[in-house]
Amino acid sequence: MQSMKKSILYKLSLFFILFTACNKKDNVTTPEPYTPITINSDWFNVSYINPKTYSLEEPKSSQHNVSYIIVGDSKALMFDTGSGENQPINGLKIKPIIEQLSQVPTTLLLSHFHFDHNQNISEFNSVGFPDLPFLRQNVTPNGIYNFTDDDLFLGSYPSQVQVNEWQPLNTDIDLGNRIIQIINIPGHTNESIAIIDKTNKMAFLGDYLYNGSLFLFNNNDIAMYKESVNYLISTLNDDYKLFGAHGTPEIAYEKLERLKSFLVCIESNSCQSTATNIWGFDVLIYEFENMQIVIFQ
Ligand SMILES: [Zn+2]
Repeated sequence: MQSMKKSILYKLSLFFILFTACNKKDNVTTPEPYTPITINSDWFNVSYINPKTYSLEEPKSSQHNVSYIIVGDSKALMFDTGSGENQPINGLKIKPIIEQLSQVPTTLLLSHFHFDHNQNISEFNSVGFPDLPFLRQNVTPNGIYNFTDDDLFLGSYPSQVQVNEWQPLNTDIDLGNRIIQIINIPGHTNESIAIIDKTNKMAFLGDYLYNGSLFLFNNNDIAMYKESVNYLISTLNDDYKLFGAHGTPEIAYEKLERLKSFLVCIESNSCQSTATNIWGFDVLIYEFENMQIVIFQ
């Protein structure tokens, strides 16, 4: 009996040695747990979304802007630059925050060109534009894009930007262990883009969809808006977390489907509108299941 016990113990210890040796041979390493970075700012509310993704809310800004930084192992994307309404520190409004969040080369992408999304553009060394033919046509041979009044909407600054990179659309882009795609989602503006993070199942939608009233600048944009919502629904699914550029950052996925029904309702004249005036412009306001769409006339 005693020798049988000894034999079992011997076999078990042999198995343990072999098991440990096999594990070493496979070189299995556990990734370092990611420690979220804490940012102290009296203007930006920087929140951890998941490893290497942060939202930069500006709750005190007039539009409650939200920008995002999406960091890979070799490259990062900043999605929008902030409202520019904060006081600069040593002449800078957003760069010191970004430098704390990203240690890799960071390219700025604008969700679109409206004045409330591009105010700190000069603080970025690299600006990427989506590779859209109508944008390429309007860039000078030196890579300068001059913002038009229509682009900026209510603002008059910045007047221009140096385009450093053309970002391919509907193409996997590897930021380093993080695959994203950039897609064009016209409707709010023609150049509007979304960033789809396929690795982490997140979609950043800019002003196309956020928690708040949505703005269309032409009645003809409804068809385009609807085309974009169909594309988003066919590309994403309810495993995806959605994020907008104003208000509370995360949007319930179901809201994307509600937006589709809302646009159908407007297009088929089933939704009633109220005429009013906003910022000196005549607009029609539509309401549908706790959503609101404002259409400039
Ligand atoms: Zn906008």
